[in-house]
Amino acid sequence: MEELTLREILAATSFRFNKALGQNFISDKNLLDAIVSDSGVGEEDTVVEIGTGAGTLTRALATRAKRVISFEVDRSLEPVLALSLRGVDNAEVVFRDVLKLSDEGLADIVGCPFKVVANLPYYVTTPMVMRFVESDLDVKSLTVMVQKEVADRFVAKAGSADYAAVTLALEMAGRATLTRTVSRKLFYPMPNVDSAVVRLDINRDKLAGENAALLHKLARSAFAMRRKTLANNLSVAFNISKQDAAAYIAEAGFDPLVRGEALTLRDFIKLARTLDKAGVQ
Ligand code: SAM
Repeated sequence: MEELTLREILAATSFRFNKALGQNFISDKNLLDAIVSDSGVGEEDTVVEIGTGAGTLTRALATRAKRVISFEVDRSLEPVLALSLRGVDNAEVVFRDVLKLSDEGLADIVGCPFKVVANLPYYVTTPMVMRFVESDLDVKSLTVMVQKEVADRFVAKAGSADYAAVTLALEMAGRATLTRTVSRKLFYPMPNVDSAVVRLDINRDKLAGENAALLHKLARSAFAMRRKTLANNLSVAFNISKQDAAAYIAEAGFDPLVRGEALTLRDFIKLARTLDKAGVQ
């Protein structure tokens, strides 16, 4: 039997979109293949997908991966998925909220190293990404479709307007690359913004030998109040005087009036070492 199109499946099952869940589906075959290709998923890989939707990306992933475990919160998609994933025997849909699952819960379901691939629901993009980046789970990479402006933040350069705490968090976890921009016209229903695909290759050893907890705290606090100087932000976050904060910044080799957004990861590592040596936590 010929494969049904996304619209035919949605019509046949009288599916009603839930906007609040960020339901904008992809049906374009070239785009689906391109996302799978960007992810580098191969026949040895177990894939965790977040947001099964109508299962179009799930199906495309299953043709290349060993196994796909796809999480979805909306049970009303069950009849849709029964049609769209018919005949696919290496994909499993789990009706659970990924944000409410513990690392242990996820590891129990998935059970091995995995790659995350997702056309993310836009209302929870950053928490979803951080949920995997900050966990101890054996995640090899994340390839995610997000709003273009969020993607720009993920891969921003130090000193640019898009540079943010999340940029640094991703840089500390590995290497992020924007692999393609995607027109809003390729989604159904069409959202108000264009999108982009970002791939993050995780390297859990990147901060080996550094005080990672201090570095994370420093990175978060540096962007807490964007219009304040780094010394101001550090003084609040670390409960030290502004003078002391400025002195540590100078000791690390930077202008005491510098703003956090001007420093690279390498610079933050230098400053974290200075704070660590001085016993500032
Ligand atoms: N993967 C499909 C595609 O590319 O066409 C669907 C993508 S759609 C942008 C996001 C999907 O994530 C929706 O089906 C939505 O119901 C689901 N979703 C929303 N919040 C979720 C959560 N916390 N955990 C798992 N899935 C979620």
